[in-house]
Amino acid sequence: MTNIVWGDVRSKLRGVVGENNFITWIAPLGLTGIESGVARLSAPTNFIANWVNRNFADPIVRALNGAGANVHRIEIAVEARVPGATAAKTMTGAQRVQETLGKSSDAPALPASAPTPAAPVTAAAPSGSEDVAGAPLDQRYTFDNFVVGKPNALAHAAARRVAEGAAVTFNPLFLYGGVGLGKTHLMHAIAWELQTRNPEAKVLYLSAEQFMYRFVQALRERQIMDFKSLFRSVDILMVDDVQFIAGKDSTQEEFFHTFNALIDQNKQIVISADRAPGEIKDLEERIKSRLQSGLVVDLHPTDYELRLGILQQKADQNRKAYGEVSIAPDVLEYLAHRITTNVRVLEGALTRLFALASLLGREITLDMAQDTLADILRSSERKVTVEEIQRKVAEHYNIRLSDMIGPKRLRTIARPRQIAMYLAKHMTTRSLPEIGRRFGGRDHTTILHGVRKVEELRGSDSQLAEDLELLKRLLES
Ligand code: ADP
Ligand code: MG
Repeated sequence: MTNIVWGDVRSKLRGVVGENNFITWIAPLGLTGIESGVARLSAPTNFIANWVNRNFADPIVRALNGAGANVHRIEIAVEARVPGATAAKTMTGAQRVQETLGKSSDAPALPASAPTPAAPVTAAAPSGSEDVAGAPLDQRYTFDNFVVGKPNALAHAAARRVAEGAAVTFNPLFLYGGVGLGKTHLMHAIAWELQTRNPEAKVLYLSAEQFMYRFVQALRERQIMDFKSLFRSVDILMVDDVQFIAGKDSTQEEFFHTFNALIDQNKQIVISADRAPGEIKDLEERIKSRLQSGLVVDLHPTDYELRLGILQQKADQNRKAYGEVSIAPDVLEYLAHRITTNVRVLEGALTRLFALASLLGREITLDMAQDTLADILRSSERKVTVEEIQRKVAEHYNIRLSDMIGPKRLRTIARPRQIAMYLAKHMTTRSLPEIGRRFGGRDHTTILHGVRKVEELRGSDSQLAEDLELLKRLLES
């Protein structure tokens, strides 16, 4: 029973606390039980537990009670989690709702009390669109705030073109890509831009999930004609996460008609999905082919440079939000290297660091980042082990593996050993004492000395810097 309730509660909370807070603080929580008015939650770290207790206890209690529980307070225990079940595992809203509703349930089969989809992240839709209330747009999701790199350049250019609002050239524009790569951001950016250029334009942005809820509601309240005329009266229709309507037959049907009606009127349509049209299962063929008839562009997984660029931009924004927090320069590079999953996780990591640093009045250092983000880092960990690093480094410098852990202090052996220590520190989540143990039981200060030495040399010794890059690449592949 608790499981079902928690799924609902979490979706509700997402609307209440906003997307970023949700990812950072609520998503990592689990509900372990409810007993005499106390809801027991689990959190992956102390820091999250404290922060949630201080900032989100009330909304959680309210959401629990709203979902039918009867609690007056929460208790959060810190729970060492199994790797993989961590905060970084985020789901799309669609997945989450699907989880709650059950996969096969098509729209009309919903119970009358079905919850409306999560409330908007940020309020204030552009003024011109009052009469076509779509989902409100997030003010941060503008073109100005979108960092362009190789993986998203094409999608960005296409979005820009549509946002110029000139003659409709490709219709629909279909954006697809994995979770957290910027699809929603680009769609909001298009909406903002169009609205700014032409305040009269009726821009309707909503998720496929909301499209379905509206449709179901219209059916229930016998206002299907209003529904139809509303959707046919817009100038630009944007439907986010369209994969959500796959398998939901009557919603698909209605979507298809809306789509055709707008295309016939030469109105721009922008669609996003988590995969290419042809790969969406349980989507009708005629819809697939319709979706493919315009321009289909994908957002590729981020690369290191793009991640670093995004982190730098978000760090600047956080600096404004959190005031006097300073961040050591190597932290961003480290995060860009280590968190390769999706941008949302990167953002969440940064938010958590800034929150902690401002709370404690501390600088954000590499060590602090590693401690605070242990759960996220663990989940995006490449499976590189200290032993592998030792082996590769030994091979590269042509020394014996046993010398890695042995006592020899000869430069030709000690230097590669320090390089292995450095790589172990940067490429694994092992702590210094743990690394020390794997280097023949050396003290953590010896490891730290080795790491520092290599960091220092990296700047002046270009051969060594090159070796490091090469070794990293070898180990990552
Ligand atoms: P998607 O819809 O593809 O799952 P989102 O658009 O919601 O992803 O992006 C997730 C988060 O990452 C958002 O907060 C968004 O602002 C941010 N983000 C993604 N790509 C970029 C980018 N290129 N520049 C700046 N922020 C980005
Ligand atoms: Mg999205």
